[in-house]
Amino acid sequence: MTDQDTVFSKIIRREISADIVYEDELVLAFKDIAPQAPVHIILIPKKPIPKLADATPEDHALMGHLLLKAKQVAAEAGLDNGFRVVINNGPDGGQTVFHLHVHIMGGRQMQWPPG
Ligand code: 5GP
Repeated sequence: MTDQDTVFSKIIRREISADIVYEDELVLAFKDIAPQAPVHIILIPKKPIPKLADATPEDHALMGHLLLKAKQVAAEAGLDNGFRVVINNGPDGGQTVFHLHVHIMGGRQMQWPPG
């Protein structure tokens, strides 16, 4: 399997369906299929970077765009009382889909530290 073949790349290509909440030329955001909070949105770059550790200086502007869009998506989801942003990186980080993604979660009190 190449990084092009993850479920997230299939969602970008509309080969599998998703509840999309935001899209522009660089990023796509959709509801997580197994939400861990009342609001749980996945935000991805369309560029198939497998994980954060694979981002390069070439991705500088894209990474900034991604984080600013996380803020926008959270606001548009009504998370005015706060939210959590998580990037799982690699096996020990709990990553299961190897297309870089940001979890945006809210709508309940988050605990710290996470498991
Ligand atoms: P990770 O564990 O890699 O950080 O997070 C992957 C996330 O993608 C999980 O929260 C999982 O529920 C979500 N996910 C996996 N497959 C699909 C899918 O086909 N559609 C959607 N909407 N979310 C998915």
